[in-house]
Amino acid sequence: MRRSQGERPGPHPAALRAALLRWFRKHRRDLPFRRTRDPWAVWLSETVLQQTTVAAGAPRFERLLARFPTVEALASADERELLAAWSGLGYYARARNLHRAARLVAERGGLVPRTVDELRALPGVGPYTAAAVASLAFGVPIPLVDGNVSRVLSRLGAIPGDGRSGRSGAAVAEAAADFLDRRRPAEHNEALMELGALVCLPRAPRCPDCPLRAGCRALALGRPAELPAPRARKPAVRLRLAAGVARRDDRLVLVADGHLVRGHLVVPMLELPSEADAARLLRTAWPGLAGRRARRLAPLGRVRHSVLERLYAVDVFDVEEAGPTDESVPVRLVLPRDLESEPRGGLLGKVLALSASSGVPAPPARARPAPSRPRRTGG
Ligand code: SF4
Repeated sequence: MRRSQGERPGPHPAALRAALLRWFRKHRRDLPFRRTRDPWAVWLSETVLQQTTVAAGAPRFERLLARFPTVEALASADERELLAAWSGLGYYARARNLHRAARLVAERGGLVPRTVDELRALPGVGPYTAAAVASLAFGVPIPLVDGNVSRVLSRLGAIPGDGRSGRSGAAVAEAAADFLDRRRPAEHNEALMELGALVCLPRAPRCPDCPLRAGCRALALGRPAELPAPRARKPAVRLRLAAGVARRDDRLVLVADGHLVRGHLVVPMLELPSEADAARLLRTAWPGLAGRRARRLAPLGRVRHSVLERLYAVDVFDVEEAGPTDESVPVRLVLPRDLESEPRGGLLGKVLALSASSGVPAPPARARPAPSRPRRTGG
């Protein structure tokens, strides 16, 4: 770590790197993605973990790897299969890009590229994921700077700012390159991430347990928890939806999501102006959304859901349908027990849980149910 004039010299970076590795070898968690250096497994795990906690991501990574053990296995799957397996992980553009990238790699022989430039040329592979695959799978000497590492290095060098953007981010990147153990880049990168996850915690860093404390400038200055500065957040966008739960012969009426995540199945929904009468508008729109008339709507309550910076307030209604079915409106009729194999997000789960807890009985089917139609994708 670079020091300013007059400051007492700290330990040599090599001594700090050695202390970090000793600590890591003793305290590292046994995580499923750490048990392999297979390039496809590393790529898959880094994609899963981009916006997902380790606790939530680790079991999902294992299931996805079991389902798609090679690039070719994912390349030959259809998107619906992947989205179903990805359901609940959020950020579904990740899954679609991974699918496209896997197909490109499979077309070129199935070998995951080794260099950052080649990796970055693949759809959805950003600088961090490319560096992670190159470093962790192929031992390329390149630093990895995720949120945990940025926090550790911001504190270690007392770098002002948020550690992620502008000059502050550039200073952290430079510190990461300076501190990198070029002989063991994979282990070094994992060790720094682990230190951020277990010891150099955001609000209450456990400095007495830290192998880097002898060289930590933030600790020497008595202000480790003040660094890095909080990042400015984008203001949230609030949206209002009305959603209807209807059944035809015990099958849920679902449609392709046109509001939150393309490719998912949801109950029919309608975006509402802020003061609108949700029941009236949903009832009016129901034939266009679900292909039948809504005879009766019973309010079930409201659920809240967020996707990135969008916050949804969703008024949910039980819908009793009537009359003939308009076959030109694309819907999917799905038995609740079969939902597991369908691509779906967290909002559908919340809506169905509310419906189940409300005790509103499923309306009797009064007309011949519509046959299951091909699901609209890409809507
Ligand atoms: S000494 Fe404290 S602030 Fe510094 S790197 Fe270690 S845990 Fe973080």
